[in-house]
Amino acid sequence: MSNGLYQRLACDCGAVCLLACGSPLGGAVDPAGEPVTLWPLEAVQVGEGVDELASREAASGGVSLSCRRCGEVVGVEHGEAGVMALPGAADDEQDAAPPAAPSRAPLEALGYRFPSTGNG
Ligand SMILES: [Zn+2]
Repeated sequence: MSNGLYQRLACDCGAVCLLACGSPLGGAVDPAGEPVTLWPLEAVQVGEGVDELASREAASGGVSLSCRRCGEVVGVEHGEAGVMALPGAADDEQDAAPPAAPSRAPLEALGYRFPSTGNG
């Protein structure tokens, strides 16, 4: 079980920090080809620097959250899909596995790609 897994994601300068609690949906590759970990939107909260958080429309159609000071993007929010993409792969191999098939379609529509699981 990975209950209680807790990912802390700070920006470059440390002014903004996001906290993700619980279990991620899984790992993916974002439209730019970078590894991300997908979390349920409600699992992610701003730990620090809510005043420094800037949001703008991301290329993938979500809302990218970045630090006003250093410009680092700390996450991309997809309200319709109910998902937050945090940069970087999950530490736990099990958590880095792609999400279950029914959850993938709306994410694939957003441009995320999933590693092949072997069934084609
Ligand atoms: Zn910063």
